[in-house]
Amino acid sequence: MAQLTDDCFAFGGPMLSVDEAVGIIASRVKAVDQTEAVSLIEADGRILARDIAAPLPLPPFTNSAVDGYAVLSGELPKGEERAFPLKGRVRAGASAEAAQPGHAVRIFTGAPMPEGADTVFMQEDVRIDDAGRVVLPAGLKPGANVRPAGEDIPLGHVTLKSGQRLRPQDIALAAAFGLTQLDVVRRLRVAVFSTGDELASPGAARAAAQLFDSNRYMLMAMLRRLSCEVSDLGILRDEPVSLSNALKQAAAQHDLILTTGGVSTGEEDHVKAGVEKAGSLVLWRMAIKPGRPVAMGVINGTPLIGLPGNPVASFVTFVHVVRPTVLALLGAVPAPLVPRPVRAAFSYRKKIGRREYVRASLRKAEDGSLEAVKFPREGAGLLSSLVETDGLVELDEDTVKVAPGDSVGFVGYAELL
Ligand code: AMP
Ligand code: MG
Repeated sequence: MAQLTDDCFAFGGPMLSVDEAVGIIASRVKAVDQTEAVSLIEADGRILARDIAAPLPLPPFTNSAVDGYAVLSGELPKGEERAFPLKGRVRAGASAEAAQPGHAVRIFTGAPMPEGADTVFMQEDVRIDDAGRVVLPAGLKPGANVRPAGEDIPLGHVTLKSGQRLRPQDIALAAAFGLTQLDVVRRLRVAVFSTGDELASPGAARAAAQLFDSNRYMLMAMLRRLSCEVSDLGILRDEPVSLSNALKQAAAQHDLILTTGGVSTGEEDHVKAGVEKAGSLVLWRMAIKPGRPVAMGVINGTPLIGLPGNPVASFVTFVHVVRPTVLALLGAVPAPLVPRPVRAAFSYRKKIGRREYVRASLRKAEDGSLEAVKFPREGAGLLSSLVETDGLVELDEDTVKVAPGDSVGFVGYAELL
């Protein structure tokens, strides 16, 4: 296990690593078991609820991969070219008559192979002689340019698995099977609150000492990408009683509650106390930067995750704590984010024992390799640092410094969401 420094015992008790915290959360939540049948296009991004075995082979029938001429492999020209009289013509979508021995059949891409023929010459590789015969060169392999039935997917093969998050190519496969609907896990109902007297909703009047609430919109957008049904529950004031009441109410109607702000140790941070009042706190704080104060609680059986208020901390902890929780609640097969190695174009020092995420942009180095350029400033409140970069460099618990040229792991925003 990673070494923990004194810093990690600040405020009493060792801090959990990100993996430990996510492990605890994943073991506490129970996946929803309701499913629904949705149309193929609605299934994109959803979690498949049962295995799908191929109800027909793909391709469903043996067909030509090219425009050309079909012959029997036993008759392929051996040493030199050979002329074949033409007999028959088969288009895509048409049915083919059996090929005649000693003859070639004109055939087009996707057309069914005539019985008796098993090899196709591309039209670019042949010529037609004066007698109207097709002259085929020697050297073609038997079976060339033919797509046998089931070569892509054999009948009965389980290609789509329960728990997988459906992508456009998976939807294509379901359509190729002739399916019109898929059984998916129902959408997760997630409540989102911001907390803080300094926040005003966009569109409302903003007092001089207020800023517009941005986290709530970021979190809702991120949840939408995970196909959640999001309830926008607005801004909670920094006041413990109304806060805990609002949490209790939300718990009755949602599968997950997310809050942002108010989870640090300041006197005006009321989320932790609010969770303790409304339900129970499972964990609080983890060894992650940005984002140390993250609270996890349970209110009447509904999990709650309290994210920090600083926008970058909120973003990072959503990606690394909320996203795996949402996927666990949906019963999705875990798909860990695998950072790809790039070269650091920056120096950095960090404390041992905590995981840090560095906002960075990618650029091509002179030798053609990719390098990560760190955003010049580090503040967890800088929205520009998320907007103007490409992703996050992950520095694990054991790392203490990065020097230019070191290999570091990078995950782009597109993959994180
Ligand atoms: P807190 O975690 O409540 O102490 O907030 C930390 C910082 O994040 C403060 O500067 C807050 O003003 C800011 N903050 C909190 N919530 C939001 C929000 N929803 N949108 C933008 N900034 C926020
Ligand atoms: Mg606050």
